[in-house]
Amino acid sequence: MTAKQTICVYCGSSPGSAPSYVKAAEELGRGIADAGWRLIYGAGDLGLMGATARSCLDAGGEVIGVIPDHLRFIEGEAMGLTALVRTETMHERKKVMFSSADAFIVLPGGPGTLDETIETLTWRQLGLHEKPLALVDVDGYWQPFLGLMEHMATQKFMAESFKGYYEVAPSPRDAIEAIRVALS
Ligand code: AMP
Repeated sequence: MTAKQTICVYCGSSPGSAPSYVKAAEELGRGIADAGWRLIYGAGDLGLMGATARSCLDAGGEVIGVIPDHLRFIEGEAMGLTALVRTETMHERKKVMFSSADAFIVLPGGPGTLDETIETLTWRQLGLHEKPLALVDVDGYWQPFLGLMEHMATQKFMAESFKGYYEVAPSPRDAIEAIRVALS
């Protein structure tokens, strides 16, 4: 029997401006549970973070939240988490999420999501891991980011090969499929 795979989701602590963002988060949470995977994320009950966790739990999935003490009263914790890991610092939180994960799926989000995503990708470039990452491009949300990646590559500040470290998926279902293939 193979061990349960753990998927780390990076996503916004806000719901975003359109209902399609929350809908995608709910689909992803459900999809992770249906795939028989474990979800690890930043523990919050807000925005896309809360929507992903609640949907995964509602679908019978296992959800681990990781939160630094100073954010407990700001971001809250989704109810009924399978486990909650408390850390002292943001760096420890990122380390626990990163090291527990077999793969990463990124939904739309703000600066925190971008920070986590870029760190994971740059560590891949540095050869520190080979874990797959898929961006869910809900309604083209990540197109400006992908444009910046192209710009960095054409201006020779980023290796073309960097673009091989992430998959771009139009929907949560496609992201799950891309990760399933990458992990097999
Ligand atoms: P955001 O995408 O800005 O809504 O943030 C999503 C999550 O990332 C939240 O749980 C934030 O606490 C977290 N976050 C915010 N800033 C950082 C950072 N510099 N490094 C890592 N995570 C962060």
